[in-house]
Amino acid sequence: MSDDHIPSGWSALVADLRSTLRRDYPDVRVNALTADRGWLHVDVDQTSIDPGTAYQLGRRIQGFVTQSLSTCGCCGSAHARDRGNGRIVTCDECEEASYDA
Ligand SMILES: [Zn+2]
Repeated sequence: MSDDHIPSGWSALVADLRSTLRRDYPDVRVNALTADRGWLHVDVDQTSIDPGTAYQLGRRIQGFVTQSLSTCGCCGSAHARDRGNGRIVTCDECEEASYDA
């Protein structure tokens, strides 16, 4: 399990996800937590939970994934937009800053 590819702007989101899992699904192991093509990608081991719980867990993870789609990978602001380049979403300020650099 590794957070190596998680953009810094997502650290709060990921910490939130991890504490939710620890608190509500202590039996579930996280296999992978990565940023894949601009999406938060979460792979959990659901073998220890029943289908109903797995379904509920899937919905909650989906909520975090949806949130990642508008969370700037740079500064963590919630105004990020997809730039259509397959990279982590960024807000306008960070996008401009990266062009200036
Ligand atoms: Zn930003």
